[in-house]
Amino acid sequence: MEFTYSSYQNLIRRILRRGYQIADYHNYSQVKRPCILRHDVDMDMHKAADFAEREAAIPDENGQPVRSTYFVLISSDFYNPYSADVMKCIKRIRRYGHEIGLHFDEKRYDTRNTAAKEYLRECVEKEVGILSEMLGEQVSVVSMHRPSDIFLKSDISFRGRVINSYGTAFFRNFKYMSDSRMLWRENVEEIVESRREGALHILTHPFWYSEARESMQDKLRKFAGAGNDFRYACMEETIRDLESVLGRDEV
Ligand SMILES: [Zn+2]
Repeated sequence: MEFTYSSYQNLIRRILRRGYQIADYHNYSQVKRPCILRHDVDMDMHKAADFAEREAAIPDENGQPVRSTYFVLISSDFYNPYSADVMKCIKRIRRYGHEIGLHFDEKRYDTRNTAAKEYLRECVEKEVGILSEMLGEQVSVVSMHRPSDIFLKSDISFRGRVINSYGTAFFRNFKYMSDSRMLWRENVEEIVESRREGALHILTHPFWYSEARESMQDKLRKFAGAGNDFRYACMEETIRDLESVLGRDEV
């Protein structure tokens, strides 16, 4: 499968054609052949909002926009979910009808000398509270960024009916497929086409998709290059008359 927007849209159409219904983490048990679409936003919220728009442009089996869940980090150095610019992207994703979940990076926390499982459970609940405050609505699903065995092997549950997408239900009862590191480890199109799985749980990272085909190296180079312009724009907001000290074309 190519990492273009149209390939992704074709995958969704194939999922629907093969009799799966797009479900979320709350309603999947009421659906006969559920397919949960999950997206982790690891680096770029603008890319995620563009992806969300294209995803919602596809009608589901009832003619409604396809809906999925976008998981947002609050501890990333790549983006600040509370900045006006990034929040605008998150609100855009919400307006298309998608859900926002917390993407939790346990490596943010020092678990030495602690009962790690209990401590991390509290950290997740704290971050759910912070993101809910930022968004002005209750966040009720969590996915893990680079999870260790603590999350992979123990079926941790959270207070307040917050759903753990790494709970055993989502791995035991669903066929899980992911495009991590811009690589599908299995042929996702073939698996969907075969209908041999009763339930699907598909993780895609919007960062890897674009209008035209691009190599992984191209995507990363472009993103790194844009970081320079982004930082210059931030400095312009902060330092009066920046241009007189350092020109835009000098960085
Ligand atoms: Zn992640």
